[in-house]
Amino acid sequence: MKTLLIFLLLTTIVFASKIELEVLGSGGPEIDGRASTSYLLWIDNKARLIVDMGSGSMLRFEQSKARLEDLEAVVLTHLHIDHSVDLPAFIKAGYFSKRSSSLDIIAPDENEYFPSTTEFLDDLFGKKGAYRYMSDVLSPQSDSFEIIPIDIKRSEKRVYKDFTLQFIRVHHGIVPALALLIQVQGKHIFISGDTNNAGLNLERLSSHVDLFVAHHAIAQDAKGYATYLHMTPAIIAKATNALNAKKLLLTHRMKRTIGNEKQSTEIIKKSFKGEVIFAEDRMKVEL
Ligand SMILES: [Zn+2]
Repeated sequence: MKTLLIFLLLTTIVFASKIELEVLGSGGPEIDGRASTSYLLWIDNKARLIVDMGSGSMLRFEQSKARLEDLEAVVLTHLHIDHSVDLPAFIKAGYFSKRSSSLDIIAPDENEYFPSTTEFLDDLFGKKGAYRYMSDVLSPQSDSFEIIPIDIKRSEKRVYKDFTLQFIRVHHGIVPALALLIQVQGKHIFISGDTNNAGLNLERLSSHVDLFVAHHAIAQDAKGYATYLHMTPAIIAKATNALNAKKLLLTHRMKRTIGNEKQSTEIIKKSFKGEVIFAEDRMKVEL
């Protein structure tokens, strides 16, 4: 029995995959030397998923040495500029890559203020789009690879070869926005996206996560419209506990929170006893 246990332990160690989340962009929309929001999921040293593509994320992607050919999907948690603007640059770079297989672009469905994913890609690459010179990327006859829009309505699960994604709509002002849970070989990474967590939708998606990636855009004393869009540190702490997170990564850092790390940590540590990490561009967190 003891030998069997040792054997099982050893095989688990030998065959366990290396799972990492790299922060490509740790900032918000400001001019502050940081790339805007973006994450890269690495499994055994291959980049499999990008979440968000804010400004500067394309350069960080290049610096990370990730291969565009290895990706299984792109998620845009919402269509604000600081989460989506580098997508066209990425698609253009793909033209010069060896990729030929199609790529899903997943984002929220429309409301009266924002386009659906399908409409967004059509606005960029459609026959009447701004980058109509590349309109073939929306067809299977693409010179490079086809991009396929996926509109997420409320909550949905999507299964890929190396991971599973579970989405839930979250409150971010008037913007259709998503949080997502990434499951990879028993590890759970939860990305809040931009939200103030009104309605406690984050807690609906999971009750135990290994890493909670929370957007830390406002300080505890924030008032007015900013609190309609983003979580204060106390709200982040509450969600982190409800998710039973092992680690908390604070990102989407803005001038309103940079310099306030001590205060934010104190508020969060009052109830959350796990590790708190402040994100920087190109930081990798291993799970
Ligand atoms: Zn944002």
